[in-house]
Amino acid sequence: MSSTSSEGRAGLSRASAPLWALVDCNNFYASCERLFRPDLAGKPVVVLSNNDGCIVARSPEAKALGIPMGAPEYQWRAFLQQHGVAVFSSNYALYGDMSARIMTILEQSCPKVEQYSIDEAFVRLDGALATQAAEAVRQLRERVVRWTGISVSVGVARTRTLAKLANHLGKKRADGLAFLGNGAEDFALEGDDAHLLFRTDDVLAHLPVAEVWGIGRRQARTLWAAGITTAAALRDADDQWLRRALTVTGWRTALELRGLPCIAVENAPLPRHTLVSSRSFARPVTELSALREAVACFTGRAA
Ligand SMILES: [Mg+2]
Repeated sequence: MSSTSSEGRAGLSRASAPLWALVDCNNFYASCERLFRPDLAGKPVVVLSNNDGCIVARSPEAKALGIPMGAPEYQWRAFLQQHGVAVFSSNYALYGDMSARIMTILEQSCPKVEQYSIDEAFVRLDGALATQAAEAVRQLRERVVRWTGISVSVGVARTRTLAKLANHLGKKRADGLAFLGNGAEDFALEGDDAHLLFRTDDVLAHLPVAEVWGIGRRQARTLWAAGITTAAALRDADDQWLRRALTVTGWRTALELRGLPCIAVENAPLPRHTLVSSRSFARPVTELSALREAVACFTGRAA
């Protein structure tokens, strides 16, 4: 295994190299529902999947009650009632609309925005946005919350894969921001902003490899079998071995962990969320043509 913790050695001027920010909405569906129910501020809220089957979004208060993601509603019905949890059916038209508004705000602030899923986008920070990245993402975050009422977390790093990890760190902080790199100079973080920095080496050393963006269950099994259990070990794995065992996709992930950007929208791992566009019929459908029309309409929307 070669040891190639190479972030910081690419010979680029750190402060002016482009950065990636992952902007991710906090508890998106639950936050959208609460926008129209100010009486629910500070109260537990959950949103159910299609047909009200499972819990797919939880406000922080609902998380604190210990309600797990994906829990079947019927198993938790008594608990939800007992704790006064507000329960919503999903309203994808609303979430799609809020998502479009948020993406527009990001696009107005930054020239390059890649929407990744309904509630997250990669934003490229170039030039002045990169040299004053802390201020740029702080403003971005404030603008989104002020104009839409939805709070977002922002993770900043040299590659999209590291930005994803930075975002998870940002979610745990009150200011919703985190930078992942090997020194404050990577991002020109000055004064108090130095607190926004998490050191890549420390974070990757403690991160289970299965939690790296793009490492699915199958790749994780291959890695475990080879004794690679942390993100740091994946980063430092041998290139030839990576290409053979995980194909070029897994190798790219390792390069990204080293701080070398090589994942683009076209070859990015697919979001784990599925895409759904559906409604229930108002009355029983007996005509094939009516069914056909509805399926065509929602297939079109989903596409
Ligand atoms: Mg989210």
